[in-house]
Amino acid sequence: MLKPIKEEIASRRTFAIISHPDAGKTTMTEKLLYFGGAIRDAGTVKGKKTGKYATSDWMEIEKQRGISVTSSVLQFDYDGKRVNILDTPGHEDFSEDTYRTLMAVDAAVMMVDSAKGIEPQTIKLFKVCRMRGIPIFTFMNKMDRQGKEPLELMEELEEVLEIESYAMNYPIGMGKEFIGVYDRFNNRIEQARVEGDSHFLPLNEEGELAVEHPMTETSYYQQALEDVLLLNEAGNEFDVERVANGELTPVFFGSALTNFGVQTFLETFLQFAPSPQPRKTKDEQLVDPNSEEFSGFIFKIQANMNPAHRDRIAFVRIVSGGFERGMSVTVPRISKTIKLSQTTQFLADDRETVNEAVAGDIIGLYDTGNYQIGDTVVGGKSNFQFEALPQFTPELFVRVTAKNVMKSKHFHKGILQLVQEGAIQYYKTLHTEEVLLGAVGQLQFEVFEHRMKNEYNVEVHMEHIGSKVARWIENESDVKESMTGQRSMLVKDRYDNLVFLFENDFALRWFGDKYPDIRLYSLL
Ligand code: GDP
Repeated sequence: MLKPIKEEIASRRTFAIISHPDAGKTTMTEKLLYFGGAIRDAGTVKGKKTGKYATSDWMEIEKQRGISVTSSVLQFDYDGKRVNILDTPGHEDFSEDTYRTLMAVDAAVMMVDSAKGIEPQTIKLFKVCRMRGIPIFTFMNKMDRQGKEPLELMEELEEVLEIESYAMNYPIGMGKEFIGVYDRFNNRIEQARVEGDSHFLPLNEEGELAVEHPMTETSYYQQALEDVLLLNEAGNEFDVERVANGELTPVFFGSALTNFGVQTFLETFLQFAPSPQPRKTKDEQLVDPNSEEFSGFIFKIQANMNPAHRDRIAFVRIVSGGFERGMSVTVPRISKTIKLSQTTQFLADDRETVNEAVAGDIIGLYDTGNYQIGDTVVGGKSNFQFEALPQFTPELFVRVTAKNVMKSKHFHKGILQLVQEGAIQYYKTLHTEEVLLGAVGQLQFEVFEHRMKNEYNVEVHMEHIGSKVARWIENESDVKESMTGQRSMLVKDRYDNLVFLFENDFALRWFGDKYPDIRLYSLL
């Protein structure tokens, strides 16, 4: 390693881009990688629409459907910083992996399609980021198209997501008339469709253009000045600390496709995005990224990245210290020490073997069945565990059986492993002990079916029982089976906790009115 490890750690910026499908996450990722020099042409990462497959599309099922099922990691250097982008599936059938990936980042970038505003999946992902209190940066995308009014967008953002916002820049015109942005943060105007350095124009002390320019004659420029004045007077103030706590989101307007505003965004983002953050252990101790000993946790396990090898890879977010190839780590959950000779890191171009990595980085460990989602791995003599990853409330359920009853043993073994891996959630009905699977996204079922067939040689039959509102129970002993009904099924989760599955919110409310003493709660 060239720099001292503390400097290396301080240079890391690890984040995820969250968005509703089609808001422009892939396009943005490509542009960022392009600036980072990780790819030669923006466009090579994306496969889904060109027929070429992205580096992240490992699994066969991904290829078949042309989507990215898993969250991969892309890395590049910019301006002395090492940037790790954790990709999240860009499909509405996203899964728990998407949520868990957000447990491994220090910041999030939220892409919003400015014509559509805040969409459902953005809200879901935002909530997970919010719960963690990480900084969230907003990019209002597709300004080259006619969209909602910028002030309206900011208002919607604040109302729907209940977060305060600060416009770092403000669009001048929109769609065909998109001239550029008024950059409040850097005190300049950034012109669209103008090449080179000349696309920046300085502002004077009054906040107006300091040079003569035909733009000043336009109504768009006048409107932008007016709106910015309004924001200056009535809007929030920029506050670094509130950004860091995730209470205030800096908002950038731009267009990922035409590459407008992306570089300014990247530079400002890198300035305010945090370096690797400490993380809590089960005993409420904070592990500092600069502590000497290596530590990390597994947020995702991916099987069959290479079908020829049937390997599983456990993704580790390094929390503290440095990793070196060949080092030994302990998994405190099973008190087992493992020598890490085979590790892999993920780059835009190819999978590369990693020799060294530090806090903030993500490494992939080849797994022969030792690891589980949420496991802590520690180096040296350390022996602690990080606090558990949250479990997420599933929304979709299927009843599952083996097509061939003779395969029952493999069926149960397969389910057990896939459940441990965090691919799917396990439930069973009372008395009859039928197996139900729960997921946050439909895609999890398809991955499950595919893997049962390919890895455990079991064909499964899945009967959809639809979406349910799942609620756990604080005072289980007060629950009676007579409380169940057509619209409120009672099942057990994998830890034998009772769970009500309500048909819908209406059924949940009805239950609450009828049995006010039963205290229900949902997971994340
Ligand atoms: P993802 O599903 O969030 O990854 O979205 P993509 O990056 O695949 O973009 C979805 C579609 O929107 C594609 O056709 C993109 O070319 C288009 N797109 C992305 N960014 C912009 C933009 O800034 N302006 C316009 N006009 N189209 C964009």
